[in-house]
Amino acid sequence: MKNQQTGNSSKQKGSQGTNTRLAHGGYNPRDYHGFINPPVVHASTVLFPDTEVMLGRSAKYLYGTHGSPTSDALGDMLSELENAAGTILVPSGLAAISIPMMAFAKAGDHALIVDSCYDPTRYFCDTVLKRIGVEVEYFDPLIGGGIASLIRPNTGIVLTETPGSNTFEMMDIPAICEAAHTVDAVVMLDNTWATPLLFKPLDYGVDISIHALTKYPSGHSDLVLGSASANARTFDQLRDTHLAMGICAAPDDCYLVYRGIKTMNLRLKHHEKSALEVARWLQGRDEVARVLHPALEDDPGHELWKRDFKGSSGLFAFVLKDKSREEARAFLDGLQLFGLGYSWGGFESLVTLPDLTHRTIAAPPDDGSLIRVQIGLEEVEDLIEDLERGFAAVA
Ligand SMILES: *Cc1c(COP(=O)(O)O)cnc(C)c1O
Repeated sequence: MKNQQTGNSSKQKGSQGTNTRLAHGGYNPRDYHGFINPPVVHASTVLFPDTEVMLGRSAKYLYGTHGSPTSDALGDMLSELENAAGTILVPSGLAAISIPMMAFAKAGDHALIVDSCYDPTRYFCDTVLKRIGVEVEYFDPLIGGGIASLIRPNTGIVLTETPGSNTFEMMDIPAICEAAHTVDAVVMLDNTWATPLLFKPLDYGVDISIHALTKYPSGHSDLVLGSASANARTFDQLRDTHLAMGICAAPDDCYLVYRGIKTMNLRLKHHEKSALEVARWLQGRDEVARVLHPALEDDPGHELWKRDFKGSSGLFAFVLKDKSREEARAFLDGLQLFGLGYSWGGFESLVTLPDLTHRTIAAPPDDGSLIRVQIGLEEVEDLIEDLERGFAAVA
């Protein structure tokens, strides 16, 4: 699956810097007449030269659902960035969670799911996973090596996400992997916040790293796509289930994400810098009880973030001190530049008022209302001016 040669400097690939790898990874222009970008292949049928190739299934490509030069360019790029044995591409970030789960879930098994997971992940676990006979148990994102006390002989899946959705708890991933692997459980990590550039889960013991490519890899809020990159232990079973279920990714979306990844490092650096400026500004406001962002020095997850991550992205939250949800709504409604909308990772700033009431362990804050912000590519001064409008609307 992995591209053996990339660009014209494959010898030094391992030592190349991030921007170089993004510029040259995933696809070799010599494979397609020298065109600098991969072709967008729209296809169901692939024609074979003779029955020997057809019946021997020896052709590189067999059928539209099995991949194409377009999906390979993106998949190989992601496998390189994640240090993975292979990558599957699926039509949404949510499918990048549900397909690996279906690949490893068995009736009678026990699954450990982090309580601060992405909401629709929880919905999938509480409905589909339970219905097929998996016992679902949620755990504290701060549990670290203590997860050993929850591991059972039949624990088959441990699903993690760091930092946590909406509340941004950092997890001790190596400690969790070590405990999970004592019973050979498959550890999955939703790595969407960090992208493959800021955290490389497989290097820390994770078996499958999951991305909503919808977010930073796309970067333009114009598509949904997902990926799961797996180590050698888990890739074959993941790929077989992916093929069995027929949930493949469309060529135009694969192409757009491949294109987006070329500039992802540059965009991320801008998101990171602007988000930290806004976060520090919010920390200085009397109306704010706390800012939840692991790259801030006084964040409870800061040490773990510093140990494992290479940077931060543009999504974080803050708590509007002693304010009700109604008052937080006034803050949101007072904004003009920040959009009220789901998703993140695009060029535009967004704000949401997450509902944390279904959580059982990572409880909602008791010191006010939590607001989540995605800092886009706009000028920080304009964003701060808008947030001031929000505070004025609450006052
Ligand atoms: C958005 C998101 C997803 C799902 O991605 P979609 O492409 O919208 O289905 C999964 N995990 C996290 C952490 C997300 O933020």
